[in-house]
Amino acid sequence: MEWSALACSVTVVILVFLPLRASDDRLVPGKPLVPGATIVSDGGDFALGFFAPSSSAPANLHLGIWYNGVPELTVVWVANRETPVTNSSATVLSLTNTSDLVLYDGNSSGRVVWTTRVKAASSSSSPTAVLLNTGNLVVRSPNGTTLWQSFDHPTDTLLPGMKMALKHGTRDGERLVSWKGAGNPSPGNFSYGSDMDTFPQVFLWEGTRPVYRGPPWTGYRVKSDYQYQTSSTSSIIIYLAVVNDGDQSYTTFTVSDGAWLTRCVVTYNGELQIQSWNASSSAWAVLGKWPPYPCVSYGHCGPNGYCDETARPLPTCKCLDGFVPASTRDWTGGRFSEGCRRKEPLRGCTAAAGAGFVSLPGMKPADRFVLVANRTLEGCAAECDRNCSCVAYAYANLSSATSRGDMTRCLVLAGDLVDTGKLGVSSPASDTLYLRLARLDVAAGKKTKHNAVRIALTAIGSSVVIIMCIFLAWLKFSGKNRNQGKHKKAPFDSSNDLEFPFVRFEEIAQATQNFSETCMIGQGGFGKVYKGTLGGQQIAVKRLSRDSQQGTIEFTNEVILIAKLQHRNLVRLLGCCGEGDEKLLIYEYLPNKSLDATLFDDSRKRLLDWATRFNIIKGVGRGLVYLHQDSRLTIIHRDLKAGNVLLDGDMKPKIADFGMARLFGDNQENANTQRVVGTYGYMAPEYAMEGVFSIKSDVYSFGVLVLEIVTSIKRSSIIHTMGYSSLIDYSWNMWKEGKTKDMADSSITDTCSLHEVFLCVHIALLCVQENADDRPLMSSIMTALENGSTTLPNPNCPAYLVRRETELEHFRNNIQNSVNSLTLTEIVGR
Ligand code: ATP
Repeated sequence: MEWSALACSVTVVILVFLPLRASDDRLVPGKPLVPGATIVSDGGDFALGFFAPSSSAPANLHLGIWYNGVPELTVVWVANRETPVTNSSATVLSLTNTSDLVLYDGNSSGRVVWTTRVKAASSSSSPTAVLLNTGNLVVRSPNGTTLWQSFDHPTDTLLPGMKMALKHGTRDGERLVSWKGAGNPSPGNFSYGSDMDTFPQVFLWEGTRPVYRGPPWTGYRVKSDYQYQTSSTSSIIIYLAVVNDGDQSYTTFTVSDGAWLTRCVVTYNGELQIQSWNASSSAWAVLGKWPPYPCVSYGHCGPNGYCDETARPLPTCKCLDGFVPASTRDWTGGRFSEGCRRKEPLRGCTAAAGAGFVSLPGMKPADRFVLVANRTLEGCAAECDRNCSCVAYAYANLSSATSRGDMTRCLVLAGDLVDTGKLGVSSPASDTLYLRLARLDVAAGKKTKHNAVRIALTAIGSSVVIIMCIFLAWLKFSGKNRNQGKHKKAPFDSSNDLEFPFVRFEEIAQATQNFSETCMIGQGGFGKVYKGTLGGQQIAVKRLSRDSQQGTIEFTNEVILIAKLQHRNLVRLLGCCGEGDEKLLIYEYLPNKSLDATLFDDSRKRLLDWATRFNIIKGVGRGLVYLHQDSRLTIIHRDLKAGNVLLDGDMKPKIADFGMARLFGDNQENANTQRVVGTYGYMAPEYAMEGVFSIKSDVYSFGVLVLEIVTSIKRSSIIHTMGYSSLIDYSWNMWKEGKTKDMADSSITDTCSLHEVFLCVHIALLCVQENADDRPLMSSIMTALENGSTTLPNPNCPAYLVRRETELEHFRNNIQNSVNSLTLTEIVGR
């Protein structure tokens, strides 16, 4: 997966007005650190000193540790978060003979604003405070004993090698606490850590409100890793561990060589992020963030609902088996807070009353459970079975993970099930959730009856094989390029059982910096297109103009069609939004934009060597074969053109813009329309003049596109066609005169295969023949392109060249009266 910096994320930028200078890596008694000076770790990776986090209050200084080599000041630890000191000669950090670091405020002549409070018993007469190259500030006794270290007192950042305690005996472990704002290091609203009340779970909180909850722990000890692809050539591996040392459990991570500038931070706007410094773009890249999309935010799917993280293309809220939405209207409108209710209420809980348990594998069990100690699976099942208020249970056998203490984990749930999730059975963080229903057959008939022996074998087997940590689960989920989203059924097609990914307007607005000009990447006939980032994934958002009445039709068309289509040569629709006047489509973002932007640009067209062009032709061809005959429905694009072919990072083509596509029944070969849509020059004559379209009208457009790709000449250009009326006219004459090889654009003449150029022009001329029946099917074209066929028929005279002059005259007049550009689509109001 390719990660990149969030286009619209906030990066904390802190102004430093103090000059940094290299110095020793340690502090000793009698040699205090003063504002303006720094201690730099041996190796040069980190610096300790005073910094001013806000340019508006430059006199307010904090003592902190930051990355020494990163130009953008990035602070990883702060001593005096709430009590800034002033920049004066009396402001110092001293190491006392009793091994304490003490920060004195210059303003109050000697007031101690922060100190380490090392226990007197451990004090030493010659301590040192060393800043290690890991970013850890360590106070040591002369014999090397660690008396205090900043790694034990994290602020908002976890660095590689740092251990974050999840619990100390019966006490909570540490929490990472966000800054209050970009220029304010005092403790903010957001924190991350474990919760003793429901241990073994970790949370991200806003105040006391949970924002995100990791899956309940399925094991005590694990070592695993996760790989982040940071570019096509490099990746970062993050090795994660959750360790139980008897009384203490902690989590820690390390990184692969060369990726030391990686950190885990709770941002002041409430996200847990894994960031890595990207030297080439000189910015922090967000490798992963939590929650990755609202669906997995705490309780987002309401009581008895769950977030299905395995759903494609986007995670979506669903009701647990045996439950239906409490309000269908809200649910289909993307409002899930009411959650789900039972299809059939639990009247009694015994088998005699018909009740029983269904097993739901691959789940994240709900929150608010009771942790019952020392149970076997059967014991756990019995615990739930005999208590009618128990609605579900989940069990893990931890014996392979620890030999100390209780080796079981029996979670018993009562009341509404809150914050349940589906992770998929392949996720080692998942549990089997046993859910009590009034009757087993209400659960869609596909679940198995509770069977203690079989369940025991399955659960023990899987937990022996797979033990995992909460961190790993979090990372895993973020690594799948998913966007935030909620689903609803298409309001315009109730017979259709498809679920369309539906994203809230406000979320799209946030993803595109409120549709800012800087995020705008294009404008088509229906509205503007913006680049944004949603759930860590780059997206392109097409915002339909409000005044475009006709656009609404195309919008719904496009949603219905694209949601059903999936092919590597079609642009993927990731979601949509229709709220009030707003209609938006969310697509995968294709970094190399549309083909016309490169093909017809003198400086860029060199990026398209012949091999790339030939691959684009074949890719578009494959996409059309899929549309015409390989997908479940026959679909005619009706506006195929270079502007509707987008290029991905590897210059592979994807057909875009199905807004004007027309759905055909299986037996229908062609159709007639009152509304001619498409683009002049790419349109087959029978469609442009009579409104008759078929898959052969797309074949015609494909032929024009192929000629453009070979020649880099626009379809209607008369400047570059040496006196001929159009590209087709020019191509036909070059072909007749045996000069086909001269048609290849000058930028590819060195690299092109003449045989392939000849083949492409031949096929293109077959595609643009006057008579639609003479044009080949896309499948035959693909066979010829893939196999280099030499048995193609000779093309007849192309369309338009054989049309009667009067017809053409009439056609041109129509266009002139309606629009001032060459797009026929404007005839219908675009
Ligand atoms: P028309 O609507 O007349 O067919 P068009 O196809 O150029 O014109 P849009 O589909 O709205 O109009 O796209 C406008 C521009 O936005 C494209 O040319 C392209 O540069 C950019 N664009 C559209 N979709 C994406 C995408 N998924 N990824 C990257 N850029 C895109």
